[in-house]
Parts: sequence; C-alpha cells; structure tokens
Amino acid sequence: MTTIFTRIVSGELPAAKVYEDDLTLAFLDINPASRGHSLVICKPELASLLDLSDALLVATARTTQRVAQALMRALVPDGFNIVQNNGAAAGQVVFHYHVHIIPRWAGDAALSPWRPGSADQSQLIADAALIREQLVGGSV
Ligand code: 5GP
Repeated sequence: MTTIFTRIVSGELPAAKVYEDDLTLAFLDINPASRGHSLVICKPELASLLDLSDALLVATARTTQRVAQALMRALVPDGFNIVQNNGAAAGQVVFHYHVHIIPRWAGDAALSPWRPGSADQSQLIADAALIREQLVGGSV
C-alpha cells in the first residue's frame, strides 16, 4: 500500500516542505496542533520505529534536531514536544514512520501528552526486569 507520505515524497501530493535529504523529508502538518507543527519522515515506506535501520534512525534523529533548531529560531516558541506514535492504539493514523515536532508557547493548550499515573515500587522493579530480559547488549 502506498502511504500518503510516500505520495508527498514522490511529489504526487503537495506539502509545505522545510527540509529534505537522501533519507528524510520534513514538512508542515496539514492539521497542526500549533503554529509550525512539523513532521519528519523517513523516505522508505516503513510503518514504525521498530522497522528502522540504524542509518534511518540516525538520519531521522538528525533531521528532527535540525528542524527543531530552525523552528526555535524562526517562530521563537518557548519549547517544543517531540511525539512519535506507533500503532493505532497509540494514535498512529499514517502508517509511515514520522516524528511530530510541536512548538509550544507558555500557557497554550496544544497538547497534553499523558496523565501521570501511580505505580508501586515492586511493579516498577518487576516490569524493568521483564524489559531487561528482552534487551541484548548493554547493562544496568
Ligand atoms: P499520526 O497520528 O499518524 O502520528 O499523525 C499523522 C499526521 O499526519 C497527522 O497529524 C495529520 O494531520 C498529518 N497528515 C495526514 N495527512 C497529511 C497530508 O496529506 N499532508 C500533511 N502535511 N499532513 C498530513
């Protein structure tokens, strides 16, 4: 299936582009949460973070930082959120990897990423152990 973002990459669909290189493209979100809300995509049609090669991870992270730096200079927000949705349950609508950069101004109501919950310490320790068991390399 060809995603809407692949059609933007190919030029079939228009977009307000802000940055492009061999592996990534950045353009403004068509339904912005705030002024300057940008999307950074990897050009290959890969659905989620889990699908990216090391080279694409580095390239998208680098483009995200470059665009965020430019946004801070251009629009002078007070901060910004990075949001990256994986899976429908997480709110992903376009199944082509992308990072949202959402500029924020003090007191705005552009976004509320999550409601802090509570957890008991034994649950945190048990869950950390479950996740560690699945990680290869590194140590804590
Ligand atoms: P997701 O929920 O998948 O993380 O976010 C997808 C984002 O893509 C949404 O914020 C939506 O507004 C944006 N989007 C969807 N279609 C288009 C489009 O055709 N052009 C642009 N510029 N943004 C789009």
